[in-house]
Amino acid sequence: MTHTVGVLGATGAVGQRLVQLLDPHPEFEIGCLTASSESAGRPYRDAAKWRIPTPIPEDVADLTVKETDPEAVPDDVDMLFSSLPSSVGERVESDFAEAGYVVSSNSSNQRMAPDVPLVIPEVNADHLGLLEVQRDERGWDGALVKNPNCSTITMVPTLAALDEFGLSRVHVATLQAVSGAGYDGVTSMEIIDNAIPHIGGEEEKMESESRKLLGSFDGAELSMHGATVSASCNRIPTLDGHLENVWAETDEEASVEDAIEAMEEYEAIDLPSSPDPLIEVFEDPGRPQPRLDRERENGMQISAGGVRETETGLQYNCLAHNTLRGAAGASVLNGELLAEQGYL
Ligand code: NAP
Repeated sequence: MTHTVGVLGATGAVGQRLVQLLDPHPEFEIGCLTASSESAGRPYRDAAKWRIPTPIPEDVADLTVKETDPEAVPDDVDMLFSSLPSSVGERVESDFAEAGYVVSSNSSNQRMAPDVPLVIPEVNADHLGLLEVQRDERGWDGALVKNPNCSTITMVPTLAALDEFGLSRVHVATLQAVSGAGYDGVTSMEIIDNAIPHIGGEEEKMESESRKLLGSFDGAELSMHGATVSASCNRIPTLDGHLENVWAETDEEASVEDAIEAMEEYEAIDLPSSPDPLIEVFEDPGRPQPRLDRERENGMQISAGGVRETETGLQYNCLAHNTLRGAAGASVLNGELLAEQGYL
C-alpha cells in the first residue's frame, strides 16, 4: 500500500535529503512540500536551491511550495516528515498532530517530553506504545514521533549493543561535520583550517536523549536508563559524517572480542530503509573515516572501529552520515515503522 506524505521544511539541508529519500520510496509518495513564507508559492526547484549531488527529482521539482500550516496541506496526506528549525517546530508540529496528521520529526523540540516517543527503530521500537499515552493526554487524532539528534543516533546503537554487559558510564567526544549546522549554520571563515570546541546545546542533547532511547517502557511510563553520559562536541571541516570517540564502562567485564561480537550481532530489522548489518565493525584501527564510510548501506549504517580495552573500560570510535542516518533517513525509518505498526 502506498501512503501520500509531505515534508515540512522541505527546502533545507535535511528537507532536501528527505525529498531525495522519499521520491523513489516503495511505500511513500510525496504529495506536499512546505517551507517558510519566503519560499511558499514558488516552484520547489527555485525555492530549494538543490545542493545534493544527485539531480533534483523531476516528479517534485515543479510542485508549488506551500505555507507550513495545517490548512495548506491537502487532506489526502497521511504522514508528514518535519525538518523545521526547532523554534518553528515547537510552534507548529503540535498543530499538525492536533489536526490529525502523524508527524515524524527531526526537530529537537519536545524530544524529551514524557509522552513523545523518541525512537531508533532497531533500538526501542516498543517506545511507540507511548503514542496511546500521548493521544489520551493531548486529545490528538494524529501523533508526534521524534528521532534523536544526529550525534546521539551515531553512538546509541553501539551502546545498545554493549548494554548486554550492563552499561554504567559513557564519555564521548565528537568530531561533527558542517552539514549538521544546516545551510546557514557555520561560515567558511569560521570553519576552514579550524575546529570549534562547542556546539550549542549538543552536549546536553547527547546526554539526555541517549538515556531516554536506552530506557524502558512499561506500557504506561518511560524510565530513563541509569547510565551516566557525558559529552564534548566539536565541529570540524568535514562536509558530512559525524565521527565520535566513545569510552564505555560496563558492570560486567567485556573484552574487545565480546564488544565486537555484541556490535556485529546486534539485530537488524526488516524495514525498507534499514541497513543489514546495522553496525559494521572494522578491524583496521584507522577506520571508520567520514569520507570513506559515511555512504555505507545508503548512508544508513553505523560504522565502528578501534575497539580496545582501557583502565576504565572499552574505548572505540563510531561514525554515521549525519543528514541521512542522523536526520532524514532516521525520520523515514520511523515513518516506515509507523506505517508497519498501523498508525497511519
Ligand atoms: P535548514 O537548512 O536551515 O532548513 C530549515 C527549513 O525550515 C527550510 O526549509 C526553511 O524554509 C524552513 N523554515 C525556516 N523558518 C521557517 C518558518 N518560520 N516557517 C516555516 N518553515 C521555516 O535546517 P536543517 O539543517 O535542515 O535542520 C532542520 C531541523 O533538523 C533542525 O531542527 C535541526 O536541528 C534538525 N537536524 C538537523 C541535522 C543535520 O545534520 N543538519 C541533523 C539532525 C537534526 P526556507 O528555505 O523557506 O527558509
